[in-house]
Amino acid sequence: MLQQTQVKTVIPYFKKFTKKYKTLESLSKINESQILKLWEGLGYYRRARNLLASTKLLVKKYNSKLPNTFTEIKKLPGVGDYTANALLGFIYNEPTLAIDGNVKRVFSRYLNKGELKINFEKLILDNKKNLFNTNRNSDFIEALMEFGALICKPKDPKCSQCCLNKSCRYLKSPNKIKTNKRKKIKIMNYNIFCYVNKKKQIALTKENEISFLKNFNLPLMKKMKNNSVNDDWRFLKNYKNSISNLNLNINLYYKFSSKIPKSYTWYSLNNNKEFMPSFTKKIFYQVSTLF
Ligand code: SF4
Repeated sequence: MLQQTQVKTVIPYFKKFTKKYKTLESLSKINESQILKLWEGLGYYRRARNLLASTKLLVKKYNSKLPNTFTEIKKLPGVGDYTANALLGFIYNEPTLAIDGNVKRVFSRYLNKGELKINFEKLILDNKKNLFNTNRNSDFIEALMEFGALICKPKDPKCSQCCLNKSCRYLKSPNKIKTNKRKKIKIMNYNIFCYVNKKKQIALTKENEISFLKNFNLPLMKKMKNNSVNDDWRFLKNYKNSISNLNLNINLYYKFSSKIPKSYTWYSLNNNKEFMPSFTKKIFYQVSTLF
């Protein structure tokens, strides 16, 4: 849940989630739409799908126990190097580091060397004895992440309070490296076409080929080109929607129709029971103003 998401946003979701599903077995019995409903509003829904798929695999193949090797853990859906290392360290106290953005910045500042110039794997391997010189590897992983988040922060690091300030090259150097990477925002323009009917329903399909909204039920979406739109469609509204590093500029069109193409299904605009990503909810909200 914490991938790309702030702790304060995650806390209520985490509480709700762990209250409802207390064991791997209970979680493994639910289906995708149930987990997505619990995840609704948190975004990056691939995480929920992968979590469910991993849970099912752990119960079925691994007797509900997390494997204890890097290779085996990485076979779980959605688990890459970072998560595999974090799990090995947190759960099995293995001498390993989960290299996230915070940890990279700490090393990079300490050495006053750009992140791209550091081979983190080699750095850890070369300094294994110094890094893992206690039996508290699990605490060390967590401590390093927290250190990056609270002391060696992205902006205004708290160098005067830092336990490394005597040897930190960044602090001493007159040529400090730059560490504040700005997220590149991409602007994209889309036309969205909504079939609606008198029963306050909207037709959605999974057949859109929009990579960042894959597998979601949506109205027809097309990249704006010269924006010549067939007269059948009536313009409803222009609005903006941000998803991750994308800023979407949307022109929303609608058409009242009782007939819809084969791959579409009608959904009530008042539907609150089924999972809907915020992106779709915003479309529902705009289309509801027609009634
Ligand atoms: S002295 Fe400052 S820059 Fe260096 S590691 Fe500590 S907080 Fe980061």
